[in-house]
This record gives sequence, structure tokens and C-alpha cells, in this order.
Amino acid sequence: MCNIEVQFEPFGALTRTQDSVWNYFEKSSERKKDSSGTQQHYIATCNYCKTTLSGQPKRMKDHLSKHCSNVPLEIKEQYSNLKKINKEE
Ligand SMILES: [Zn+2]
Repeated sequence: MCNIEVQFEPFGALTRTQDSVWNYFEKSSERKKDSSGTQQHYIATCNYCKTTLSGQPKRMKDHLSKHCSNVPLEIKEQYSNLKKINKEE
């Protein structure tokens, strides 16, 4: 099956493009809903350690940079560096 859901979008800043961190996670097909029926984040399953977490890019990056035990070093560093740059602001 050819699913072209994830397409590169050059003007992604203003559109709801999927964060590239999703390359390292499996996305649940359905969103969780809270008691009032509001849609929550997708569930993200780490490709490296199969940990599941709420599909918030910030949390996912945090997982890769700090908590994941199986992530390749270059990916880990990629997100560790992002964090440093943000802190300098
Ligand atoms: Zn992980």
C-alpha cells in the first residue's frame, strides 16, 4: 500500500507538517480521547526500544536524547544538540 501521508513540505513552518522526530517513532493510527471527547496526541512507539509515549515532538526528542537506551548515537546527539541551542536563547 502506498501511503503518501508524510511528504516533505518546504514551507513547513506554517503548515502542520509532521515533525521529523516521527521518523524514529511508530505513530498510533488513532488518537486517544479524553473524557470530554477532545482528541489527544497520538501514541508514539519508539522504534529503538519500543517504549510508548505521548506523541508530542518535545517529549519524543527528550526520549531520544536522554531516555532511550537503544538509539544510535548520531540520532541521540542530533536531539541533544537541538536542546543546547534552545537553551542559549
Ligand atoms: Zn527509545
